[in-house]
Amino acid sequence: MAVLVASDLDRTLIYSAGALALTVPDARAPRLLCVEVHESRPLSYLTETAAQLLTELGDAAVFVPTTTRTRKQYERINLPGPAPRYAICANGGHLLVDGVSDGDWHGRVLARLADECAPLDEVRAYLTAHADPVWLRKQRVAEDLFAYLVVERELLPEEWVKGLAVWAENRGWTVSLQGRKIYAVPKPLTKSAAMREVARRTGAELTLAAGDSLLDADLLLAADRGWRPGHGELADAGWAGPAVSALPERGVLAGERILREFLKAVRTEG
Ligand SMILES: [Mg+2]
Repeated sequence: MAVLVASDLDRTLIYSAGALALTVPDARAPRLLCVEVHESRPLSYLTETAAQLLTELGDAAVFVPTTTRTRKQYERINLPGPAPRYAICANGGHLLVDGVSDGDWHGRVLARLADECAPLDEVRAYLTAHADPVWLRKQRVAEDLFAYLVVERELLPEEWVKGLAVWAENRGWTVSLQGRKIYAVPKPLTKSAAMREVARRTGAELTLAAGDSLLDADLLLAADRGWRPGHGELADAGWAGPAVSALPERGVLAGERILREFLKAVRTEG
């Protein structure tokens, strides 16, 4: 039967140098493949073994990269394996079909946002008024859909993020802290809604998912089976879901394990 695999990318399948979390001696470290170059510098990696597993997965299932990245940020990733027919960007705001955003889908997302949560401008105004230049490095808007801040984590007071989360919650927005980025994302803008749409279009009977952050929680709950790594926002919060396996691996080796689990499920249940 057709199996759909919707996986988060950053810190789930691909890792920046700072997120690799390698604990083995250097001489025994896995060989890494660079899959993203930004401004002429290497940025994201997976292990060579993970690259092989991802290629096998692309042949065995409908693999759907599912990311909060903007289309532009997604497009500079060069994943091994067959080019995915579908990709989910901007946390579900754009559904790429053969690399082109589906206009019907995007229109439906915009209509939901207009109906169900506070406008982006209100959130931007709050961020501009309340973020402290002591720890704020950049304030960005992504695809005119949501906002994020790049911060100095060591200087960022935990209380500030909690305050923002409460303020945002009352306006139908979610806050997620991932590495050096604080995301403010409308609640109706979800990876899970886009995954369901791809499942409908492909006729997939089994859905598998993986992710590490709060913005992946709805995706993990919506899938028939899910996996989360031993690092990240969900692991830190001790988050669990009925059909979600919490893996012990952390860093780039968790990415390899997740791909193994996907393949095992595709081969036994698919
Ligand atoms: Mg992630």
